[in-house]
Amino acid sequence: MIRFEHVTKRYADGTTAVDDLSFEVAEGELVTLVGPSGCGKTTTMKMVNRLIEPTSGRILVEGGDIAEADPVQLRRRIGYVIQQIGLFPHKTVLENTATVPHLLGWQRKKGRDRAAELLELVGLDPSVYGDRYPDQLSGGQRQRVGVARALAADPPVLLMDEPFGAVDPVVREHLQTEFLRLQSQVRKTVLFVTHDIEEAVRLGDRIAVYGSGKIEQFDTPASVLGAP
Ligand code: ADP
Ligand code: ADP
Repeated sequence: MIRFEHVTKRYADGTTAVDDLSFEVAEGELVTLVGPSGCGKTTTMKMVNRLIEPTSGRILVEGGDIAEADPVQLRRRIGYVIQQIGLFPHKTVLENTATVPHLLGWQRKKGRDRAAELLELVGLDPSVYGDRYPDQLSGGQRQRVGVARALAADPPVLLMDEPFGAVDPVVREHLQTEFLRLQSQVRKTVLFVTHDIEEAVRLGDRIAVYGSGKIEQFDTPASVLGAP
């Protein structure tokens, strides 16, 4: 699980991006963070894998205070997918997917088998796409590889920051469907950032509606939609 306790982030220039935030994502739950640009969603995400540090408050991942965790160890337990997923251009799809196993020193065969399994899971046939290079894929296919790569070390926690934000609406809907299917199989604890309320409603077990630096509402999709 992920737990925020009175977390505030003030940047050096005095901007308060996140203001006294407290909420929890239960184990296996998918929480979407939705709100307009600049309201603190990305700041919230980046604090979880310690790309940035909170000014005050604390964050627990799987019960442990992340301030006391080694950032490298921490990031092994947290998959991270962003809008413009950075794949290595000179590595094949299979090699890109096996990046983390490779870094962890897994045997080559084990890493490749795991990568093939994950590509299958995100809807890319490894026998068709495994040996292609990133520039031989569509935008949507690249995002799928990004999701597969983030899952490679089987992290309990997944952070997704507008992962489907850069693809066209038809592809996005398809990726959402596939992601829901995937999540029903792998049941990760997921924080998913989007500025698209429809996406937030479709994917979230619960939705955190952000207004500048604060959560204005935190509830199930039905309650958020039914609210006056
Ligand atoms: P969102 O992801 O919802 O678009 P961000 O978390 O990126 O929002 O930004 C929240 C606020 O913090 C914005 O006002 C943004 O301009 C500001 N901000 C983000 N990063 C920095 C930074 N490195 N330095 C100063 N202000 C920042
Ligand atoms: P390097 O260590 O310089 O990447 P290697 O000979 O170990 O060179 O690997 C050659 C290619 O095979 C690299 O692109 C690497 O990503 C890939 N590779 C190496 N080990 C693995 C592994 N365990 N699983 C998947 N791919 C691997």
